[in-house]
Amino acid sequence: MQVRYGERVHKIAIDAGFTCPNRDGSIGKGGCTFCNNASFSPNGRKPDLISAQIESGRRVIAKRTGAKKYIAYFQAYTNTYADVDELAGLYAQALREPDVIGLDVGTRPDCVPDEVLDLLAGFQQQGYEVWLELGLQSAHDTTLERVNRGHGFAEYRQAVLRARNRGIKVCTHLILGLPGESTNHHIASLDRVLELGVDGLKFHPLHVVKGTQLANEWRRGSYRPLTLDEYVDDVVELISRTPAEIVFHRLTGTASASILLAPAWCAKKWLVLNRITMALAKRSKPDAIRDYQQGTPELLHSGGLTCPAM
Ligand code: SF4
Repeated sequence: MQVRYGERVHKIAIDAGFTCPNRDGSIGKGGCTFCNNASFSPNGRKPDLISAQIESGRRVIAKRTGAKKYIAYFQAYTNTYADVDELAGLYAQALREPDVIGLDVGTRPDCVPDEVLDLLAGFQQQGYEVWLELGLQSAHDTTLERVNRGHGFAEYRQAVLRARNRGIKVCTHLILGLPGESTNHHIASLDRVLELGVDGLKFHPLHVVKGTQLANEWRRGSYRPLTLDEYVDDVVELISRTPAEIVFHRLTGTASASILLAPAWCAKKWLVLNRITMALAKRSKPDAIRDYQQGTPELLHSGGLTCPAM
């Protein structure tokens, strides 16, 4: 980003008030087993105007970094889950801001119809930076079924091919530490994603938050989260297997302290990133460190309103 635009470009996270088809019955009910129920309540969410969210994000980021260019990151829940005209209006609101140079839209792989991809491709043709973020989490259908994800690898495959055929850049989310998975599963998921083709990656440790089915499994002792060492080892392994041209958008994830149950290390983002950086240096991967540091760090407005699976 820094090379392409000659300066740092930061993401500003936006909650546009979307919901999720894996909860309202369109695709599934109950949602993913790790998704926080309380934070999902539509009545509990009254997001500010998009312009106001951009203004508050801009104020914080500009003060911290001096950044002058931003990407509007539609992050919370399923950001393509609406009529295409409504989507066009919401995305256009963000792009109306003079310092917003593009869009990053997070969604589920089974929620990107052709007309939405055409809309995003249209923005790209106008010169905007456009990314589609797809929550895959695992390339193993057994795991996806186990966490009640509501889609399999086939839907992801279709979404990636249709998006990339239109020239839209795809960033894929993978969660490490899903129930029943180990290092070999993480590697196999990455291999399948790379084989299909991808432009960016996000890695996230599975964390246990209040109000989830996963929390019950964790309390019963039937789910054990990854240790910090296990997470760092696996992330470094995945980075070392990834071609240099693929951009890492995120290497860890946090949850709000008010809902995080485990693992506790998840809350210490910089501890995790520093451990990954040191482990990469040991493996002599300075390029990966540099690319990540020059990326587009996100500003997360608050815990509980984001979709950890997108
Ligand atoms: S994690 Fe995301 S995709 Fe899963 S139920 Fe929650 S909002 Fe929907």
